Amino acid sequence: YTGKHDSEALSGKIRRMLVKDYQSLPVVIKENVSVYDAISAMFLEDIGTLFVAGEDGRLAGVVSRKDLLRASIGQQDLNAVPVHIIMTRMPNIAVCRKEDLLIDVANRLIEKEIDGMPVVRDADTGLEVIGRITKTTIARAFAELATVHEI
Ligand code: ADP
Repeated sequence: YTGKHDSEALSGKIRRMLVKDYQSLPVVIKENVSVYDAISAMFLEDIGTLFVAGEDGRLAGVVSRKDLLRASIGQQDLNAVPVHIIMTRMPNIAVCRKEDLLIDVANRLIEKEIDGMPVVRDADTGLEVIGRITKTTIARAFAELATVHEI
């Protein structure tokens, strides 16, 4: 039986979970990198989503596994196609910030049916990528909720 007190405690615990305490390191590639090299980077970094930066280093787009699969089944030379051709681009990128609540990010991942989003901060000419939140991040945070902390 979970009483009102327990459920309020759980809800409070969830609402204290912030992006900055759970974010992991982002992998950012340049927009002129080839689709072939992006696939290599995805394997090397063991990551499902790559963030793409423009020449100015600011967030320009996102490349997912399925984006790369789609490009790979086309009749094109993967060394000749730059990722900026196939990426999902700004301003259509869902982003979050380090002070956001993790639960709000989780709800946006569900709503937008995406695996992750970059953690960004404002920079002079656009957004700088400083981290990433993925479904794995959310799973880890969820698992942590079952941990009992002795006071
Ligand atoms: P996959 O395509 O490998 O299943 P996703 O579900 O994350 O991975 O991606 C689905 C589509 O949404 C892809 O075209 C991808 O470029 C795009 N996408 C991924 N992350 C974001 C994001 N944070 N904001 C906007 N679009 C995104």
